[in-house]
Amino acid sequence: QVSREMQSHDTQVKFGDVTIGGGSFAVIAGPCAIENRDQIFKSAEIVKKHGAVGLRGGAFKPRTSPYSFQGLEEEGLKLMQEASKEYGLPCVTEIVDPAHVELLEKYVDAFQVGARNMQNFKLLKAVGQSQTPTLLKRGMSATIEELLLAAEYIYNEGNHNVVICERGIRTFERATRNTLDLNAVAYIKTKSHLPVIVDPSHGTGIRELVAPMAKAAVACGADGVIVEAHYDPQVALSDGAQSLDEASFAKMMRELTPFVQAA
Ligand code: PEP
Ligand code: MN
Repeated sequence: QVSREMQSHDTQVKFGDVTIGGGSFAVIAGPCAIENRDQIFKSAEIVKKHGAVGLRGGAFKPRTSPYSFQGLEEEGLKLMQEASKEYGLPCVTEIVDPAHVELLEKYVDAFQVGARNMQNFKLLKAVGQSQTPTLLKRGMSATIEELLLAAEYIYNEGNHNVVICERGIRTFERATRNTLDLNAVAYIKTKSHLPVIVDPSHGTGIRELVAPMAKAAVACGADGVIVEAHYDPQVALSDGAQSLDEASFAKMMRELTPFVQAA
């Protein structure tokens, strides 16, 4: 179980050769979606250059609108795997279907269970039956208790490589895309031995707020951040407004340097 009562020491999750949890702060970065070869390579090059230790990118995109870009699917996974190898960055992508476990395992080092699927119990059980590290994002209306119980669905199937991600919740506030609940980070760190990371990109929806909230993630005891970065956010097919460009990513990394895990 994921409770501290069952295990007092912090769980460390191996993501490629990167360790998440147990004291160091990891920065995972990359575009919201893999769009084409040039885009994922350029974006990976930038995040590597400025110190990210992992690469993110969506291939199966659970978009709010059915008319939005839905992702390159397997073709995108192939491109991200190439970029991941080229730049020596383990990679993570979202899994949306329990039947995709084996397919995704061919290409990526970790699964992401997205906010919209936090209580997709078949999906949680399917990733739980693998040993692939899994980043579990908080549902946009999920309580902390529901989040921890969702983590337990994965954990109890035998996959102990679970990382929890606070990505903002839906509140009455509309100025920001979501309300990043950093209470949840500090709270979960007291209640659970699992690593907790923060997604300040979806948590705010606004590029300028990503670095401040990444620094806040350090302050509240998070084990890392996952941020969206794109070589040219202006042309991004999804989440451009919250994606960091090279200059803003580099600036955030400089500000985080004293706290960050070396690449
Ligand atoms: C994403 O990481 O691009 C994403 C869709 O995140 P979330 O599930 O947190 O909305
Ligand atoms: Mn996104």
